[in-house]
Amino acid sequence: MTALDTRGPTARTRATATFAVDVGGTWTRSRPLEDGAPTERVPTPSILRRPGVPVAVLRDDLVALLARLAPPGACVAVSLGAALDERTGIVHGSAPLWGAADDPVDLGAALARRRPDVAWHLVNDVTAAVTDLAVRHAPAGVRHVGYLTVSSGIAYRCLDVPRARIEIDERGLQGEVGHLVAQVDAEDADLLRLRCECGGAAHLAAISSGPGIARLVVQRAGATSDPVARLRAGLGAGEDWAQGVLRSAVAPVAALVRTLWTLDPHLDLLALGGGVVEGLGAVYEHTLRGLLAVPASYADPPRDDAWFDEHLRCCVPGDVDLLAGAAAAVSGAAEAVR
Ligand SMILES: [Zn+2]
Repeated sequence: MTALDTRGPTARTRATATFAVDVGGTWTRSRPLEDGAPTERVPTPSILRRPGVPVAVLRDDLVALLARLAPPGACVAVSLGAALDERTGIVHGSAPLWGAADDPVDLGAALARRRPDVAWHLVNDVTAAVTDLAVRHAPAGVRHVGYLTVSSGIAYRCLDVPRARIEIDERGLQGEVGHLVAQVDAEDADLLRLRCECGGAAHLAAISSGPGIARLVVQRAGATSDPVARLRAGLGAGEDWAQGVLRSAVAPVAALVRTLWTLDPHLDLLALGGGVVEGLGAVYEHTLRGLLAVPASYADPPRDDAWFDEHLRCCVPGDVDLLAGAAAAVSGAAEAVR
């Protein structure tokens, strides 16, 4: 038995998705929601893949791609790597898809115009992740499940499991933590000068995201064509500079995790995923646990491996299925509530 009862009385306008799509910055994956159906993968028309192409063209191409993928009359759950209002289908921005463009775009309406036979449901990708996590991995009785993605950007979502709801603000957002100022140790004060993709200084994403870590490698080990590979090799060889970079990158994430636990005593399970966490694997988890095992004050409880095993999960590739999570969210497992 899992913790989540998707038939709860608070479920959103429930729809049973018949097809799911996950739009990532690099790949768009899709599959019919029936047992054994294969997943198809095509390149996403994103600014990551097609730098220099006007954002209006990229948006049109994304609508055309989704319209082409959807089967006739389908109910489609779309997981989108973007800040969006799930209740309206309005997208506020997505660095991997459209760079710095921040004019709201009504993607839901554009899809409905292009394919009126399809019922479209847009879901934030972190919503999809936390919902899948709750459905498939959370033991019975958990209250809040959180998911923190650390990849090209950093974002968080918390699902109130018994109520099957995700609390959002007037714009439909929750947990855009990547653009908060990072907490860094005194010896890392120089990192506060690093610029974020959004233009801000000292943001968490400027230091701890994939591009942030690449900047740290260049700063401490010199220019290289593949900073992440350089870091991995340095960690494998036990080099001091590499361990220092990892610690500097993980420390602000650990500080955020400690803050989440402090502000949300019902956060029974917190998972970290995304390319940075999953790509670095065991060494990332070891560093994070090491930082969190030291109490920050008398108010911070001591945490040992048994506690971490129960409350903190660093995902490995394949742990979280965004297609299944988007479909579950649409079916009522995670209603976005203002
Ligand atoms: Zn930022």
